[in-house]
Amino acid sequence: MAKSVRVELEGAVLDIPLRWDGLARREIRDYGPFLEGSPVYTPAGCPILLTIEDACPHAEPVDNDPAGINCGGCRHFWQPPGSLLGVCHHPARRWDGRKEAEKNG
Ligand code: SF4
Repeated sequence: MAKSVRVELEGAVLDIPLRWDGLARREIRDYGPFLEGSPVYTPAGCPILLTIEDACPHAEPVDNDPAGINCGGCRHFWQPPGSLLGVCHHPARRWDGRKEAEKNG
């Protein structure tokens, strides 16, 4: 069975697989499967994202410098210490099941 690390973010529980990295000479977290399945949402409907993801049109830079912003530099993003994953709290990015149901008829 492959090794993984369990991560909890605002009530969402994710199992991030580990893979051996020859350069680092240690196991590192493999976010590939997470990205393939994204977006993943917290129970409150907030998307869980990688800090390095490109900023969306709703981005607001924490330091008012829009150059090179990604989610990690946005004031709507929260990430626990030491994690590359975090949660976007912008209301426009929140999953709304009612809107989705209306779109699908
Ligand atoms: S944290 Fe949210 S609002 Fe900010 S850039 Fe990322 S997706 Fe957009």
